Amino acid sequence: MAERVFNFYPGPATLPLPVLETAREELLDFQSTGMSVMEISHRSKQYENLQNETEARLKRLLNMGDNYKVIFLGGGASTQFAMVPMNFLSPEKTADYLVTGSFAKKAYQEAKFYGHVHPAVDTSGENYRRLPRQEEINFSDNPVYVHLTSNNTIFGTQWQTFPDCGNTPIIADMSSDLLSRCFDPEPFGLIYAGAQKNLGPAGVTIVIIREDLLAKANPDLPVIYRYETFVKNNSLYNTPPAFAIYMVSLVLKWLEDLGGVKAIEKINREKAAVIYEVIDQSNGFYRGHAEKDCRSIMNVTFRLPSEDLEDKFVREATAAGLVGLKGHRSVGGLRASIYNAMSYEGCKTLAEFMKDFLAKNG
Ligand SMILES: *Cc1c(COP(=O)(O)O)cnc(C)c1O
Repeated sequence: MAERVFNFYPGPATLPLPVLETAREELLDFQSTGMSVMEISHRSKQYENLQNETEARLKRLLNMGDNYKVIFLGGGASTQFAMVPMNFLSPEKTADYLVTGSFAKKAYQEAKFYGHVHPAVDTSGENYRRLPRQEEINFSDNPVYVHLTSNNTIFGTQWQTFPDCGNTPIIADMSSDLLSRCFDPEPFGLIYAGAQKNLGPAGVTIVIIREDLLAKANPDLPVIYRYETFVKNNSLYNTPPAFAIYMVSLVLKWLEDLGGVKAIEKINREKAAVIYEVIDQSNGFYRGHAEKDCRSIMNVTFRLPSEDLEDKFVREATAAGLVGLKGHRSVGGLRASIYNAMSYEGCKTLAEFMKDFLAKNG
């Protein structure tokens, strides 16, 4: 078998090795059923238990009370860009959007189909290299919700503290940093995350909804687009993406065994610091895209003095077993995605490679 590499792809992304090993072990026989979890009915007791356990574990990890409901959906985070306004916006109402990156902008554009949308801030003019200060955010008078992206995957910025939105529920796309750090769930009415960055494989999107917001959802929607449908039916209204949910359950168990979100946050901060340190001590050879006080601990974006050097970096890094480092075309350069499953060792190896590359090419 080929040796495993350090995988810095932005998503789908690296998964914890013990998780993959357990999945391999259980692939032909899930919980002594004589069937794979892929083959078993989603109405079976074994499957239902698995899903209930996954939900309970997630809420435990996030310190969330019973007023939050977890549902499992298909369609990726992008479907939530539309489902959120379908459920909570209407032609006579306004929702505020904090446009701080490409995904945030897509969410904002989808919402326009359903009602008034107000860009309370838009940092595209600075190629999304920073997040706004509280006083730069221009909320509308009475928004039904404020939508934000907690971590801007492409640009490598991350809200360090969430903005104060008063009593307006925050709806957050946490696709690339849910479970990477502790936060107070209270201001959030709804949180969604595609699994393929920090939570598992592609195919399932996790949505967490607070009951009081759910109660305000539009009733005049096709059944399949109502959050209510999935909450009422325990995400078993129709066939859920069972294998992806199973993989998420293994990732959550791995995280819980490791000590939970607080423990992983500490590791994540150390991982990010070891790479940012090389950037900051390179005398401008490596240039971070994000402003320092907005830096993400999940996606580290940086450029080199020329595109030729950037190509060379990617080529040589790949040959050294450091894979998936090419940046998104809208930023260029390099991006190291260092989600929960990326080890400190992987980040340290990348940092050493960067120092070495600088010594040879600087
Ligand atoms: C990747 C990503 C998305 C898009 O997710 P899909 O599952 O491909 O629809 C949306 N938001 C953020 C923050 C992302 O990182």
